[in-house]
Amino acid sequence: MSRFDEDDAFEAGAKLSLAARAMAARPAPYLDDLNPAQREAVEALDGPVLMLAGAGTGKTKALTTRIAHLLNTGRARPNEILAVTFTNKAAREMKERVARLLGQSVEGMPWLGTFHAVCVKLLRRHAELVGLKSNFTILDTDDQIRLLKQLIVAANMDEKRWPARQLAGLIDHWKNRAWTPESVPAAEAAAFNNRGTELYAAYQERLRTLNAVDFGDLLLHMVTIFQRHDDLLKQYQRWFRYILVDEYQDTNVAQYLWLRLLAGGHHNICCVGDDDQSIYGWRGAEVGNILRFEKDFPGAKVVRLEQNYRSTPHILAAASGVIDANQGRLGKTLWTDAQDGEKVRLIGHWDGEEEARWIGEEVEAMQRGTRGMRPFTLDEMAILVRASHQMRAFEDRFLTIGLPYRVIGGPRFYERMEIRDAMAYFRVATSPDDDLAFERIVNTPKRGVGDKALQTIQRTARANGVSLLEGARLLIDAGEIKGKARGALAALIQGFDRWHRAAVAGANHIELAEQILDESGYTEMWVNDKTPEAPGRLENLKELVKALEQFENLQGFLEHVALIMDNETDEGGPKISIMTLHAAKGLEFPAVFLPGWEDGLFPSQRAMDETGLKGLEEERRLAYVGITRAEELCTISFAANRRVYGQWQSALPSRFIDELPESHVEVLTPPGLYGGGYGAAAAPSGAGIEDRAASANVYNSPGWKRMQARSTARPMSQPRESRAMVIDAEAISSFTAGDRVFHQKFGYGTVMGVEGEKLDVEFDKAGAKKVVARFIVSAAQADDVPF
Ligand code: ATP
Ligand code: MG
Repeated sequence: MSRFDEDDAFEAGAKLSLAARAMAARPAPYLDDLNPAQREAVEALDGPVLMLAGAGTGKTKALTTRIAHLLNTGRARPNEILAVTFTNKAAREMKERVARLLGQSVEGMPWLGTFHAVCVKLLRRHAELVGLKSNFTILDTDDQIRLLKQLIVAANMDEKRWPARQLAGLIDHWKNRAWTPESVPAAEAAAFNNRGTELYAAYQERLRTLNAVDFGDLLLHMVTIFQRHDDLLKQYQRWFRYILVDEYQDTNVAQYLWLRLLAGGHHNICCVGDDDQSIYGWRGAEVGNILRFEKDFPGAKVVRLEQNYRSTPHILAAASGVIDANQGRLGKTLWTDAQDGEKVRLIGHWDGEEEARWIGEEVEAMQRGTRGMRPFTLDEMAILVRASHQMRAFEDRFLTIGLPYRVIGGPRFYERMEIRDAMAYFRVATSPDDDLAFERIVNTPKRGVGDKALQTIQRTARANGVSLLEGARLLIDAGEIKGKARGALAALIQGFDRWHRAAVAGANHIELAEQILDESGYTEMWVNDKTPEAPGRLENLKELVKALEQFENLQGFLEHVALIMDNETDEGGPKISIMTLHAAKGLEFPAVFLPGWEDGLFPSQRAMDETGLKGLEEERRLAYVGITRAEELCTISFAANRRVYGQWQSALPSRFIDELPESHVEVLTPPGLYGGGYGAAAAPSGAGIEDRAASANVYNSPGWKRMQARSTARPMSQPRESRAMVIDAEAISSFTAGDRVFHQKFGYGTVMGVEGEKLDVEFDKAGAKKVVARFIVSAAQADDVPF
């Protein structure tokens, strides 16, 4: 017997009870907060409703109010409402908002969540219908890849030529389209050396044997179950009396089919979305789902909302100007009766570090209230980046000046898997005794050193009182490690010997870092990786190498990271948010910074290379999403130069900047360069147009961009010296209590006590801390350091 029948004591589809009718007569004060169009969408409880409207027009607000109204009028019980959103954060917020509207906590809305969360619950109830047990496991990517690799080898295919990660991407793509191995269309079936569908079928079979699913299966299995078991589908159609979907423009085919099946009986489905905010095409989202809605649900009420309640007219006009350049939009009118407020601010910087420095200073100034604006709290501010590697410069900078921040929707830069791996290599190269680091990377990339081999190494190391690296060497020398592991491990040990010698001899640490990542096979591992995350990981690795430029050697850098990670405690209190544009969907902040608007970074070169105009238009929608997150103040910035692998490259400002309507934009003059302030003397002699661009009123002089276009990616002839962040310890005299000092992370402070190498310092901003003397300089000295 299925679980459905057990809990199904409630007679779904029953007529409204007397109690429910009495509830329907209850007051609904929350309706007064809506405009007529929203109210229409909320009160049209039965039948299909499509709310199609631009950013900030109150779609989510209307959707949430609709849930409250369904409950308040007794139309549905909490567990009869199916409401899906895209992130857990959005789902939580929706629940809280409903509770606020009703003035009481909402118990038991088990079906309000992400597509995945809801589908896991359903699939556990009906797993047997697709040959699984209800306690199935959900595979992570690593498990999935391992499994696929076995299948590729079993199929006598060369795994090097036909990597498992590529197959994983392909299968994911098919699952997003709700194709089972049998239904992949012939045109696609030729993929992966004509073996794709065969391997897909074998993979599904293996998963079944293992009683496991991957993420794509959660939806695919539920669609299959509903397609094959009409009786069960009908039960659920009665059970979920009302269906609501936020961010509908980003649903993929599988999600769309699943919704269409469930709404097939009563058609009580309300979808809200904005075609201009469709940003997940690269993951199979089909903006066409919006257009199909009226066809699938004839007689659907289509509600258009036009008043924007979020942003000032300047922000709205800037966003509209950008999105106007896209072809084939549904087109919408947006207006606001908010005060004009500040224009969108645009500023060009010399390079990425300077951009981060400026934003750090600007944030602090805005906290106090600057340029006649009201003060903003940190919670009211957000930095939205295109690529996660951009976060590194901000995190480093904010840690340096002690500005509290949080990263939303992902780990912080130095906590990312690939960064920790890379740093583990650096750690062993500088300190061969670092066993923890050695353990982390000895089998990454795969060297055939499994758990057993590692245990043998550990035993040998312990028995001989040596490090794991030395333990491994002993085993190799004694011929006790066999097979593939032997050669691979020997090569790794030789590598560490070489890298350590180079580090000790004072080799250029940036080149050494690149060499370590290349020779160890670590970079190659991600190059061969065909998952959607791999390119981002490679970019993070490049960013890591870039971060090294500010240090004298690997050791100094590793100490810096250890220090900042160690000091990082989550103390609560207000923080500025850093997140990707994708993660910012649906959110809003009074002040938003949009850094890195450079062609190639944003719009992303990869998106354009892979899908051409389609990719460019998706990037443009992302720009629209970014600008429309801002309520009062939106600051766009770009850097004229980025340093890639130690080479200066000039960057062209994003083409989206040209699309901003000029009358709504104020161009700020960057500090420094020629105008005094920090770094005034830092512009290189013989500097090219890039410098002029960075210091000139960029927005008003498109000509330089054309000129620059001809010289794109030309390495600068005389790169500016990089700014040292670690201060030379030699120059530091000993401190005594009462001295004013400066610390690179905590800023200025006063020495309270001295204990050998350690100082007790009362920092002006960060409070009392114990710090190591070598990370401190006198305040007077610090003023000369170009931080
Ligand atoms: P997005 O497309 O970015 O997801 P949205 O259309 O979902 O935006 P909401 O987040 O629901 O917009 O609303 C934007 C802001 O406008 C919120 O702060 C919301 O509280 C406010 N708002 C919405 N409708 C009204 C209204 N009728 N009166 C006053 N404020 C409103
Ligand atoms: Mg919304």
